[in-house]
Amino acid sequence: MKRYDVLIIGGGAAGLAAAVSARKENSEITIGVVEKNDRIAKKIHATGNGRCNYTNMDIKSDYFYGEKAFVESVLDKFGTEDALAFFYELGIMHRVEDGRVYPISNQASAIADCLRLYLIENGVDFITDTFVSSIEVGNGGEFYVNDLCAKKVIVATGGMAQPNLGSDGSGYKLLEKFGHKMTKTKPALVSLKTETDKIKGLKGVKVYARVTLMDKKSAVASDYGEVLFTDYGLSGIPVMQVSRFYERGMTMVVDMLPSLNYDEVMGEIYQRVYKMPEREGCELFSGMVNKKIAVPMLKAAGVASVAVKAKNFTDENIRKCTDFLKKLKLTVTGDNGFNNAQVSAGGIETEGFNPDTMESKLVPNLYAAGEILDVDAICGGYNLHWAWATGFLAGKSACKKTAI
Ligand SMILES: Cc1cc2nc3c(=O)[nH]c(=O)nc-3n(C[C@H](O)[C@H](O)[C@H](O)COP(=O)(O)OP(=O)(O)OC[C@H]3O[C@@H](n4cnc5c(N)ncnc54)[C@H](O)[C@@H]3O)c2cc1C
Repeated sequence: MKRYDVLIIGGGAAGLAAAVSARKENSEITIGVVEKNDRIAKKIHATGNGRCNYTNMDIKSDYFYGEKAFVESVLDKFGTEDALAFFYELGIMHRVEDGRVYPISNQASAIADCLRLYLIENGVDFITDTFVSSIEVGNGGEFYVNDLCAKKVIVATGGMAQPNLGSDGSGYKLLEKFGHKMTKTKPALVSLKTETDKIKGLKGVKVYARVTLMDKKSAVASDYGEVLFTDYGLSGIPVMQVSRFYERGMTMVVDMLPSLNYDEVMGEIYQRVYKMPEREGCELFSGMVNKKIAVPMLKAAGVASVAVKAKNFTDENIRKCTDFLKKLKLTVTGDNGFNNAQVSAGGIETEGFNPDTMESKLVPNLYAAGEILDVDAICGGYNLHWAWATGFLAGKSACKKTAI
């Protein structure tokens, strides 16, 4: 049976950060990373559309969901500068786009490579193709993981988002077995299914829009940015940002011209009708909105066909066109599930862990890091930052020379 000082379960962002920080802290201990996939860092390659938005210049707890004091404590110990320095030491130069930080080479593979190469060069074992279904504790407090034994174990198996990349939720059971509690999980940062009749034909159309999720009485969440119409509903970063708050039956209100108020949009349509009375409806809005939008808009406005000339538009038609552009209401019918989500909301309660060390309060020498915990964040590099930060703390504390 192979023995390790520190064994990390999960070769994703948090697990690899833990391995790096453990090795940097202590060059003598034996460290292994157990990964169910045939290679480590599979998800990292997919992040940020292949560019890996690995942190943000504005890291603060406001952008995270979870136990606030716990999140703050972690972020105090590992903020933006720490993330930049951590990766610079591994060879990553960075660039910033709207506060979002990417490797200067714009390649997610650079992040995966720099972690992998450092760990190989520094004698960390990768035990791939190895699924961990349980962790046993021996009489001396040592851990047994499959046919491996370890003094300390860091569980960094991620959540349930995109199980095709490895994280299938199996890690939750590893910690639940030791008495750790978990909150309900649901997909977050996910595109939403909506009624589709009103947006037929818009598949692939992108608009800079404000989306506002409404329950019966009021706005629940709102965001602005590039929204993508799809054949099932809505996608794009602003939709993903508000997705965490949706419940079936809520309404998504899309404002396709957020820089103009309702009256200004209506005034613009009246002007076009006045200036171009002979234009057919399908051409009248050219230069104002994506051409494809005219078709469902005119239908919603009750205009008999797209060939109807502007001079024949009624006040009611114009008001309804304005409604379509400024407050298109789509009933939300569901989300695209964990298979398409970027993160899981919910997870193992942080209350059971020490935010200084990420060590379990229930089982000595057992640690957790990353998305497995009940913390998630908005888009923008925050979720990976959480993985690095918690991995860093867990790795550093698990290998303190005095403790091994
Ligand atoms: C498509 C996509 C794009 C994203 N883009 C960004 C972005 O640009 N910026 C950002 O901040 N966040 C992004 N995220 C979110 C971010 O990638 C995750 O929050 C982060 O990777 C979580 O790290 P983790 O190490 O906790 O979990 P993971 O990265 O999921 O790693 C967990 C690892 O554990 C392994 N594992 C799981 N169970 C077991 C088991 N039982 N036995 C052995 N191994 C196991 C898995 O195979 C996996 O390799 C994105 C997510 C996705 C899906």
